[in-house]
Amino acid sequence: MDESPVVIRLPLRRANAYLVIDERPILVDTGFPGDYPLLKARLSAHRIRPSDLSLVVITHAHFDHTGNLPSLTREADVSIACHANAARNLRDGTSAVVRPRTLLGRAVRPLISLAPKPQPLVPDIVIERETSLRPFGIRGRLLPTLGHTDGCLSLLLDGGSAIVGDLVMNGLLRTKAAHIPLFVHDRAAWERSLRGLLNREVRRFYTGHGGPFDREEIEGLL
Ligand SMILES: [Zn+2]
Repeated sequence: MDESPVVIRLPLRRANAYLVIDERPILVDTGFPGDYPLLKARLSAHRIRPSDLSLVVITHAHFDHTGNLPSLTREADVSIACHANAARNLRDGTSAVVRPRTLLGRAVRPLISLAPKPQPLVPDIVIERETSLRPFGIRGRLLPTLGHTDGCLSLLLDGGSAIVGDLVMNGLLRTKAAHIPLFVHDRAAWERSLRGLLNREVRRFYTGHGGPFDREEIEGLL
């Protein structure tokens, strides 16, 4: 086996999903509603069917990350893992609260309320503390990394990579640099989460929008 799990970015229309391949494959996030055929095609390009996945991790309960969970779980009997607060959103069919950090965020927020209401779902695995992914065939761990919302998770993979959802993102106009997210629920928690990942020697950050970003660029955000 390789030294560390393989991370494959699956670019979808407005967000990235990730395929992580180790002993078994898992999926991280599912993209914007309506992207299911594209998501399946991206998986299939790597010879993965939805039924091959040992787990789907949802980094946080925003519709551009959870949008295709209903289609996926209809087609395959796959477990869903998310943070306890995101689990509450999934069960209620709601999205995590967005708190704009900038004027641009304020301008974008009304558009978000136009998104289709998520279909309620019951997650199988609810995460409140650091949890090993070994039972799912992945050398790595899930870590709560709050800040963008009150229910965010990151995947910390052996070998120095992390998939961090929207803890960091590119610019809204698809600029390539790393930015503090447009929506920050709790700025102090956000800083703690990012420092926590840097303290664990993460070298490469895979993000929900744009990226990936190297450690040096992420250090510049603090
Ligand atoms: Zn988000």
